[in-house]
Amino acid sequence: MERTLIILKPDALQRGLAGEIIKRFERKGLKILGIKMMTLDSALLAAHYAHLTDKPFYKGLEEFMKSSPVIVMALEGYECVNSIRIILGATNPREAEAGTIRGDLAIGTGRNLVHASDSKENGEKEVARFFKAGELFDYDKSEYALIYEGHERS
Ligand code: UDP
Ligand code: MG
Repeated sequence: MERTLIILKPDALQRGLAGEIIKRFERKGLKILGIKMMTLDSALLAAHYAHLTDKPFYKGLEEFMKSSPVIVMALEGYECVNSIRIILGATNPREAEAGTIRGDLAIGTGRNLVHASDSKENGEKEVARFFKAGELFDYDKSEYALIYEGHERS
């Protein structure tokens, strides 16, 4: 099964949308392996957003991501990296489909509420960057037989 790192960004917490966003992942049938609240520092953000540190908007992004606590989650599911990106919608919320988190709930690209890993490889890397081993839980989810066919959950 793939893993994805989710960050509910400061705007999600400030706007009281954490529950609304988490609900959408739960309803999909994804398993929460870990969840915690934390503040992000410059070093962690530079590693997480290494592909963006030379962009003109990076300083503003960094300041915003440090502006209040975030909730980080590790989610697991069959081919979940792609399906979670679909649930998020486009990076620019004004171009995100209705029905997606960003399409329904956000307007500004720099205030798009939530991060999700963009590849299977990055999902593994990002979960390892934000969670210690003891913070991730391996458990059986009783509804799996109703969410997956056998070959999908093996
Ligand atoms: N971002 C921004 N301005 C831009 C592009 C990106 O503020 O022109 C921010 C935005 O919050 C985005 C984050 O940088 O979510 C990471 O960018 P990426 O291209 O990885 O988009 P994502 O994977 O979050 O959709
Ligand atoms: Mg990204």
